[in-house]
Amino acid sequence: QKEILKVTDLKQHFPIKGGIFGRTINHVKAVDGVSFTVYEGETVSIVGESGCGKSTTGRAILRLDEPTSGEVEFDGIDLLSLNKKEMRKKRKDLQVIFQDPYASLNPRQTVGEILQEAMSIQNTVPKEKQHERIVELLETVGLGAHQMDRYPHEFSGGQRQRIGIARALAVEPQLIICDEAVSALDVSIQAQVINLLKKLQKEYKLTYLFISHDLGVVRHISDRIIVMYLGKIVEIADKKSLFTNPQHPYTKSLLSAIPSIHPEKRRERIILTGDVPSPIDPPQGCRFHTRCPFATERCTREVPELRNVVTDNGHQAACHYVEDIEAGIMQPVR
Ligand code: SF4
Ligand code: MG
Repeated sequence: QKEILKVTDLKQHFPIKGGIFGRTINHVKAVDGVSFTVYEGETVSIVGESGCGKSTTGRAILRLDEPTSGEVEFDGIDLLSLNKKEMRKKRKDLQVIFQDPYASLNPRQTVGEILQEAMSIQNTVPKEKQHERIVELLETVGLGAHQMDRYPHEFSGGQRQRIGIARALAVEPQLIICDEAVSALDVSIQAQVINLLKKLQKEYKLTYLFISHDLGVVRHISDRIIVMYLGKIVEIADKKSLFTNPQHPYTKSLLSAIPSIHPEKRRERIILTGDVPSPIDPPQGCRFHTRCPFATERCTREVPELRNVVTDNGHQAACHYVEDIEAGIMQPVR
């Protein structure tokens, strides 16, 4: 399998200004040392509660916000070493779809013009072929060529997301980052858009990095899943392993909140108390210790590293006590 995206020790610390001189008095550690790999043709999801750093990770990869440190290798190229012009060119291979496509669609352009502009900027389709390609794209995303001369406001939310997808496809990308791309849509429309994304993935050999707070949505589209908490990865696994055999207490708590796909294998329910702590001064040791029902004194001191758990199928979790919790040696205290 070919690596298409390799993120290494990515950090995004946003300065907080304050005092009479507007000095930097602290940092929001939105992403704090995140590493993962995405292989060609797969869908990797990043899940977690709002504020866990999942969108920030996506934006840092795209350099919509310059990351504080780390490495982002895309198709063998070190993205962070590119200058602005080179990066703009690279964006042809690396597209993004946001939650609200309306915000990124020019209201004064027709759908045809929007797609034509995308092709012209990135030089993907020669002028004389553009009309034909626009027709094709609109058919592909299920809108139909007759919609070409209509404006974004004339479409429903689901249709606008299809326009956003068509625009991403217009530049023939390798990887698409979907940031809460279906979160604003009704459940039935969500399913349609997810099915469309799956169909397109096969047709165009696309790779997706799918960012969502919704494990129910992620379940339908992912090959592998990354769970983030307070700027760090707490668990990575293939979908089946994560849903049937979650190892990190935080992942277990997230899964406790949604109906099981394997009701015969009842999981112990872990209900979280309290809010996510501030990423300005995240808890020492394991960042989850303030909410973890298994936390010990060691958890308040020692940062758990992401390590292989379960078997050698790539399932990793960052918790000192994965084995003891699985074996029932440790019981939840709250
Ligand atoms: Fe809970 Fe400790 Fe494991 Fe962190 S390391 S998840 S606090 S048991
Ligand atoms: Mg977000």
